Amino acid sequence: MKIETKPLPPGLYLVSTPIGSARDITLRALDVLASADLIAAEDTRTARKLLEIHGVPLGGRQILSHHDHSGMAGVNGLVALMREGKSLAYVSEAGTPMIADPGFELGRAAIAEGIAITAVPGVSAAITALTVTGLPTDQFHFVGFLPTSQAQRQAAIADLRDVPGTLVFYESPKRIDELLNTLAEGLGQGRQAAICRELTKKFEEVRRGTIGALIGGLEDLTRKGEFVVCVGKAGEAEVSEAEIIAALEDALKTMRVKDAATAVAGAHGLPRRQVYQIALELGKKR
Ligand code: SAM
Repeated sequence: MKIETKPLPPGLYLVSTPIGSARDITLRALDVLASADLIAAEDTRTARKLLEIHGVPLGGRQILSHHDHSGMAGVNGLVALMREGKSLAYVSEAGTPMIADPGFELGRAAIAEGIAITAVPGVSAAITALTVTGLPTDQFHFVGFLPTSQAQRQAAIADLRDVPGTLVFYESPKRIDELLNTLAEGLGQGRQAAICRELTKKFEEVRRGTIGALIGGLEDLTRKGEFVVCVGKAGEAEVSEAEIIAALEDALKTMRVKDAATAVAGAHGLPRRQVYQIALELGKKR
């Protein structure tokens, strides 16, 4: 498919970019990046690489740097250019600008100045994660990164206890254990949850289960790459370990371990691997 270059009306174009697989860029994003008078990026090197991968010509344009530390002076500089009639495409380092990424102040300032804003939508790790967790997607609450201080993290999680939807957290690999433990303390071990690692990339991995079961399996988790953790809402298919054991004991009266695990996992919407481990232990004791 050929990239279409055509003059764009002045304004701000918020262009989403891939979160891993470079080919997750949209054709429209490529058209806008090829056509905008100016490109601004959170990380100019990543942006330049993306343009190179997709053969988007810079044609003498410079990639301007704009990130969280650019401050209002940076925002005002870009707004002035758009007021002069320029079209400006903005890309954050990955995914959708403003979603745990810069762009918010720029967008607000543009709106305040009556400058047109256009979204060029695409990938976001939050939505990508939600769709593969198996947790309800009818209502969800994007939390993003929690504060780093433990007291503030605990307080933030306590405030989320009664949110009537799936919770979506972004987390760095070095704090993933700590996040799950704090979630277990604040929300209980029984909620359904999922750890999504390296989405759309070579080592993509999704683990599903109760918070307690996920903590139990942390031993062999690779703490590298990028993580989203999703947690189901309170009361949503919460199954305690005792309930799983009771159901398995019942099933084991008439079934083999493997079949009992499949039946109980299916009945409770749980990952078969998790239930099979418990069934194996019970089978040994029989
Ligand atoms: N703007 C991005 C978006 O729309 O999702 C988010 C940028 S934020 C600075 C980076 C965080 O997003 C990572 O620490 C991780 O929590 C999450 N993330 C980004 N890419 C990811 C991926 N491929 N797999 C899992 N999580 C990812």
